[in-house]
Amino acid sequence: MHHFEYVGDDFCAEAVRLDSIAAAVGTPTYVYSTATLLRHLEAFDAAFAARPHLVCYSVKASSNLAVLHLLGEHGAGMDVVSIGEIHRTRLAGVPGSRVVFSGVGKQAHEIEAALDADLRMINVESEPELDLVERVAEHAGKRARIAIRVNPEVDPRTHPYVATGLQESKFGVTSDLAEALYARAAASRWLDVVGIDCHIGSQLVDVEPFVDAVRRVAILARKLRDRGIAISQFDLGGGLGIAYREGTPAPPHPSEYGKAVLEALDAEGCGDLEVVVEPGRAIVGNSGILLCRVLHLKRTPVRTFVVVDAGMNDLVRPALYGSFHEIRPVRRGVGAPVEVDVVGPVCESGDFLARGWPLPLPEPGDLLAVMSAGAYGFVMSSTYNSRPRPAEVLVDGARFRVVRDRETIEDLTRGERI
Ligand SMILES: *Cc1c(COP(=O)(O)O)cnc(C)c1O
Repeated sequence: MHHFEYVGDDFCAEAVRLDSIAAAVGTPTYVYSTATLLRHLEAFDAAFAARPHLVCYSVKASSNLAVLHLLGEHGAGMDVVSIGEIHRTRLAGVPGSRVVFSGVGKQAHEIEAALDADLRMINVESEPELDLVERVAEHAGKRARIAIRVNPEVDPRTHPYVATGLQESKFGVTSDLAEALYARAAASRWLDVVGIDCHIGSQLVDVEPFVDAVRRVAILARKLRDRGIAISQFDLGGGLGIAYREGTPAPPHPSEYGKAVLEALDAEGCGDLEVVVEPGRAIVGNSGILLCRVLHLKRTPVRTFVVVDAGMNDLVRPALYGSFHEIRPVRRGVGAPVEVDVVGPVCESGDFLARGWPLPLPEPGDLLAVMSAGAYGFVMSSTYNSRPRPAEVLVDGARFRVVRDRETIEDLTRGERI
C-alpha cells in the first residue's frame, strides 16, 4: 500500500500534486511519502508486537537523512553496513543502542567507529573478522557486543544478485564454524556475545524460505544456549519483497511474515529471544517514485521510444537486475495506450526504465512517475555520463520539502584537478 494516487486526472503524492513538485524542483526528482513510510514501519512493529523486538530499517535501501530521522523518530532502529551509514544514523539522531552493524568486509576504522558509537551489536561474518573485532576492541579498551551471521543455506528463490543465504554465497559462516566462533567469542575478554544473525536475500515473495532459515538458525541458537552462551537477540535480517507489478503474486504482508517467524522461533524453543528484523525494501520501496520528464518521442520501424530525462545513472535497477517498474503519466493520459519503451539519455542500450509498457502516447514536456523506486533507487545512482544526481523530496500531507538538493555541474568535478 502506498499514498500515490490520482486525484481527478492529476497524480499526487499524498495531497501534493506531482506536477507542482516538478515545477518547483525540476526533474528528475525522487519523491518520498511520509505517510507510506510510517505505515510500513508500523506494519512491521505490529507484526512483532507480541514480543520484545526492534525494527532496524536497512539504511542502504534509502539513506537520506530525512528518511532516517523520520523512521528513527518513530522508534525504528537501523541496520548499517559502513562507517558512512553509521555517520548518517548519528546525524539523523538515532541512538547507537538501536543500530546493528552488518557487512562482509568491515575495516578496523569502521569497527572502531561502531564501538565509539556504542552500537547495539556487530554482526560478524567470518573468522578473520572476529579476530579483527577482538583486536580493535582490546585496543579501544571496550568490549564489543557481537552476533555471528550464520549462513542457513536456504534458497530464497529470488534474483541471484540478491540471494545471500545460499551455500556458495560470500555472506555469513556455516553452522559448524559458527559454533566454533561462538565458543571462542564467549571465552574472550573483549567480546560480549549477545545475538545470532542471518539474512538470506532480498525481494523474497513467500514466507517458506524465512521459516526454513529461522528454524535452522534457532536450532543452533538453542544448542549454544544449552552450553551457556548467552544469546538474547535473534536477528533475522531483512528481505521481505514488495509488489512491483499489479497482478503478480503479492508478497506476504508483514503480519503474515511476523506470525510465521514467531511460530518458527517458538517451535525451536527460542520464543523468549528478542527479535530484530532489518527490512529495507519493504519499508521504502513503495514509498518513493522517480519523477521525470519526457524529452522526445522517437519511432523506429519496430519500436516507439519515449526518451525521458532520467536514466540508468538515476535508477539502475532495470539495467542491473532486469527489474520492472510501472510507469504512470502524471497527467492522466487520453487516447488508447500504446506499447512504448521508456528510455534515458545515457549511452548504453541497457539504459531503459521500462520496455513494452502500455502508455497513452505522451508529448514532449509531459511528466511521468516511475513507481516503486524508493528502495535501491537514489542510493544506487551515479554520475555516469557526467549527469548530476537527482534531487530528493519528502512529502508530508499537503506539504513537501527538498531533502537533498539536486547536484550541480560544479559538484561533478569536486576534488578533481588537472
Ligand atoms: C540489504 C540488507 C538488508 C535489507 O534487505 P531488504 O531486502 O531491503 O529488506 C537487511 N540486512 C542486511 C544484512 C542486508 O545486507
